[in-house]
Parts: sequence; C-alpha cells; structure tokens
Amino acid sequence: MKREIDITLMPAEAADSSSVENAAAKKLKLSPGDITAVRIKRRSLDARRRDIKINLSLVVYAGETPPPLYVPVTFPDVSGNKSAIVVGFGPAGIFAALTLLENGIKPIVLERGKDVHSRLKDTARLSKDGILDPESNYAFGEGGAGAFSDGKLYTRSNKRGDVEKVLRLLVQHGADESILYESHPHIGSDRLPYIIERIRETILSHGGEIYFGKRVVRFSGSAEETSGVECADGSSFSGPVILAAGHSAKDIYYSLSSSGYELEAKSTAAGVRLEHRQSLIDSIQYHNEGGRGKYLPPASYSFVTQVRGRGVYSFCMCPGGVIVPAASEEGHQVVNGMSPHSRGGRWANSGMIVELRKEELEAQDPFAMLRFIESIERNSYNPGFAAPSQRLDDFIKDRTSSSFPESSYPRPLVPVRMEEILPPVIVSSLRDGFSAFDRMTRGKFIQHDALLIAPETRTSSPVRILRDSSMKQGRGLYPAGEGAGYAGGIVSAAIDGTEAALRLGGDYGY
Ligand SMILES: Cc1cc2nc3c(=O)[nH]c(=O)nc-3n(C[C@H](O)[C@H](O)[C@H](O)COP(=O)(O)OP(=O)(O)OC[C@H]3O[C@@H](n4cnc5c(N)ncnc54)[C@H](O)[C@@H]3O)c2cc1C
Repeated sequence: MKREIDITLMPAEAADSSSVENAAAKKLKLSPGDITAVRIKRRSLDARRRDIKINLSLVVYAGETPPPLYVPVTFPDVSGNKSAIVVGFGPAGIFAALTLLENGIKPIVLERGKDVHSRLKDTARLSKDGILDPESNYAFGEGGAGAFSDGKLYTRSNKRGDVEKVLRLLVQHGADESILYESHPHIGSDRLPYIIERIRETILSHGGEIYFGKRVVRFSGSAEETSGVECADGSSFSGPVILAAGHSAKDIYYSLSSSGYELEAKSTAAGVRLEHRQSLIDSIQYHNEGGRGKYLPPASYSFVTQVRGRGVYSFCMCPGGVIVPAASEEGHQVVNGMSPHSRGGRWANSGMIVELRKEELEAQDPFAMLRFIESIERNSYNPGFAAPSQRLDDFIKDRTSSSFPESSYPRPLVPVRMEEILPPVIVSSLRDGFSAFDRMTRGKFIQHDALLIAPETRTSSPVRILRDSSMKQGRGLYPAGEGAGYAGGIVSAAIDGTEAALRLGGDYGY
C-alpha cells in the first residue's frame, strides 16, 4: 500500500524520524510496525505564529518497498560525436553541457577562469589581501557566480519538471537529497565546489572537453550565421555556440555589439547589502526573544514594498552568511553574500535593492543601463576593496557613522554617507523602504548594530542579448543564462542553459 498524506508537527517531532513515522501511522490508522518506509515529498516551515509548525507532505509505504528516490541520468560516450561549443561554465553552461552530453552531443566547454579549487585560493587572497585576479574571482571561474554562493535553489519558475531535473542532477552529483523536498532548498558555499567537480568528471569521463583559461574574445562568421569562437590565446573552435558567459562578462557584450549582433538595455535593480545579527533575525522571524532553539534553522526573511511606485525589496538573503568582495575588475566595488551549508555564522545579510527602469535613463542605447551600474561601482571603489559603509540608523538620519559594529565583510570598512556614492533614487527609495520594513517588524528592523555595505549591483543583467522564439540569434548562436538577460539565479540559469542545449540539438538534427 502507498498513501500520500499531509501532517503538521512541532519542530522537535519533525526532526525525529520515529516521531514522523508514528504520526503517519496514527493518521492512517496503522500500527507503526506496518509501515515499511516514509518518504518526505515536501517540507515547509510555518512561522506565522509563535508556535512554529513544520508541514510535511509524506508518501507512506506499508507492506511495500519504495522505488528509488530518483532514476539517475545515464550519459553516453560522446568522444567521436558531433560537437557544440559552450562558452562559460556557470550554472547555465554546466547544465547546457550536461544536456548536450545526455543527448549524444560532445560539449566543448570554454571557461575563462580557473578550476573551482584554484579559484578558492584566488577568492581567499582577495578577501585576505584585497588582491583581485580579474580572471579568477567570485564572478569568473569554474562554477560561475553560483559557485561561492548561498546556493539557494529556490526559483519562481513554474516549470516544475525542469526544476526537478536540475535538482536531481545536483543530487546525482553529490548534493543532499533534502533539496528534492525542502520548500526553500539550499546547498552552501562549502559544498558547491565538490558538486561542481563531480559534474566536471561526468563530462570529461564521457568524452566531453573542458578548457580553463580560455577567454572567448570574438565570434567567427557573422551575426546572421555564427560558426565558432576565437579565444584570447589565439586558439579557435568551430561549431554552434551556446553563450553562457554571465552578466559580469562585459567584454562579451562589447564584442557582440561591434560584430553587429543585436543587444538592448535591460531594467535591473541595485542598492546595498544589509547585515544584521542572525540572532536578531531569528527573534523577529520566530517571534521569540530567546532565539531559534535547537530544532529551527537560522531564519531567513523576504521583505518587499513599493516606494512611490518603485519596488524596494530584499534579494538573495544569506542566513548565517558573510558579505564578500564580488568585483571582477579593478576600480569597481561590488558586494554580494554567501553562506555555508550550516548557515551557522553570526550574521544575516541580504541585498536591499531598488528597481531601476531602463525607460528612465536618458540614453537608450544597449549599454545605457550598464554605464549607470558601472558609475555606481566606480563611485564606490576604494583601493583594496575597502567598502563604503554606514550604520542603518545613521543612514536613516543621514549622518556619517563614527564607528562600526563587527561585520563579516573581510576588507576594511570606510565611513560614508550613502548619498555620496549612490544615485538619489536609490537612497531615497531605500530610506523609505527601510522605514516600511521597520513598521512590518514592529520597530525591530532599524537597529544601531545593522550595517549597510555598498554597493549591490550585480543582481541581474543590465543588457539583453536578443534571441528569437527558438532561443537563438541568427544561426549558430544560442545566448543563455543570466548574461543573456533571460534568467536570474542558479536554477533559472540552469533551466535556460538546458533549454538552449535542447534547441541546439533540435536545430542541428543531432
Ligand atoms: C556571491 C554570490 C552569491 C549568489 N547566491 C545565489 C544564490 O544563493 N542563489 C541563486 O539562485 N543565485 C545566487 N547568485 C546568482 C547566481 O550565481 C547567478 O544567477 C548564476 O550563477 C548565473 O548563472 P550563469 O551560468 O548564467 O552565469 P555565471 O554564473 O555568471 O557564469 C558565467 C561563466 O562564464 C565565464 N565567462 C565569462 N566570460 C567568458 C569568456 N569571454 N570566455 C569564457 N568564459 C567566460 C565566467 O568565468 C563564468 O564562469 C549569487 C551570485 C553571487 C556572485
């Protein structure tokens, strides 16, 4: 017998498998001994009230063995097969390459950065000494921008089948099975490199090719028919191209534009990272001054409001995480956040960002929004990636902070008034947005110990590479992922890369 049921338990009960089994047996009027297996289909946390509950959707097996959790994808050997080029090995490029492989096409991956473990050393040097390698950092290198992140896998995509396939492939390569049923799954920056490495092994062991240190600089052929790519080291590769270079690869946008490809400016959002103590966020979200206790995870939040018709919202919240220097070029200041799997750190951070509409810019060329974003990054830059910072209560009262609380940001903090570096529309919208969030939390959000660190600018692409309904521009070029301007976040970039690979396979009759 197999039955699907929904139950609600206290956090301590939900953490104990025999309590879950007993609750399932009770609901089904069975004795616990009749149950052969209980599988969680969905787990979510209901923290709307003080007595926090865990909602579980279960599949209960009695007198029956459950089938495998998922069927692993089998990959053929593609050594002698037709090939396609994948530019960039972030989530979009990784899943494009896996999909090509699954469908018998040999992926030739060209990645400008280093392998993920060498990259770890470069990001550590950036954090410790403020020395940036422009080809190996938080944006560039194996795993892309997603490699050192919170690894949140939550997406608003309603393509359920595609989301599940991405998650299953991650589990097949070492991610925890819980990502298949958690309502807000995440992996963590300490586990992602290991998973990415295993995906690389799958591709290489089945005949795919992956090259690091290969920076694509030009496209062969024409905008009507792309026939391959040329790299900075003089090498070239022929074949149809999936372009998954992310949105920090500005050189790619300029290269495409100068060769006659069509691009347009895109609306985006920018602001600051905001850091609170995790214990404060726990006490707000769990309505308990005593904190989260033993059985609840470090709390996350999502705030959204409208200020004078403009969206102001939290973005990419990292419970128990750290703020990192995420620039990919000297002279630009960019911050972002990441957290380890445990989310066990002392701080909680998130982007606090303001909607920026392309129609509001004076210039309307494809690079207008990119220039606007770059001007914020340049204004915010200090040597060694010291970060412009202001306490949240000082920001509200428009005064420079005379001291800072302890922070997770690894580089020095520089006192500023955010007005000095951010455009007025961002400052005034954030100020009113924060006041709204403070009202939502009954006066707990605006704290002396909360810190703004600027700027958060790489939230989504400020440029879009146009593509037709079959996901290509001309013949032979498939712009995919966040850099193409059609996806945002790890899972949606992965789905976009997967679709581009399927389209390419269909178009070329492979
Ligand atoms: C610190 C941080 C934390 C984040 N946290 C999360 C999170 O928790 N959840 C989430 O969903 N999203 C998160 N994001 C966003 C997420 O990482 C991106 O949305 C996602 O990585 C986009 O995938 P992509 O493959 O389109 O592009 P990218 O990940 O940017 O990958 C592009 C790749 O192309 C390579 N490349 C660029 N130019 C060239 C070239 N000319 N030649 C060859 N290769 C090139 C780059 O080196 C890079 O590896 C985070 C981002 C950062 C920076």
